[in-house]
Amino acid sequence: MWDKELSHELAQILKVIADPPDLQPHPQNSWSQVFDGGVIEVMTGLTTFKFSDGARAVYGTGTNFGLSVTLASGEKVSIDIECRLCVMCGRRIRNHVKYCRHCGAASNKPDD
Ligand SMILES: [Zn+2]
Repeated sequence: MWDKELSHELAQILKVIADPPDLQPHPQNSWSQVFDGGVIEVMTGLTTFKFSDGARAVYGTGTNFGLSVTLASGEKVSIDIECRLCVMCGRRIRNHVKYCRHCGAASNKPDD
């Protein structure tokens, strides 16, 4: 069951993803950045936030169209973005957008 503690933990993670504190380039490689409290890695369409307490947050363009979070305890939480398939190119696009960002086709939203 969802609880207040989980909300607080996720809120902290989402806040960092939205605006990583003290964000800087990684000293050793070009695909990572460091922030106060962890590292961000960007590889093969996946962005991974690795927090120093062991938590992880991953989002990308792959099969998981949303955010996957592994809390420091190991518990996993997913946040999914409601989406639909583009009538022209068949790729997944966010439900609320008017044009496909892949091919530019106009919306096929049922309520348009
Ligand atoms: Zn399309």
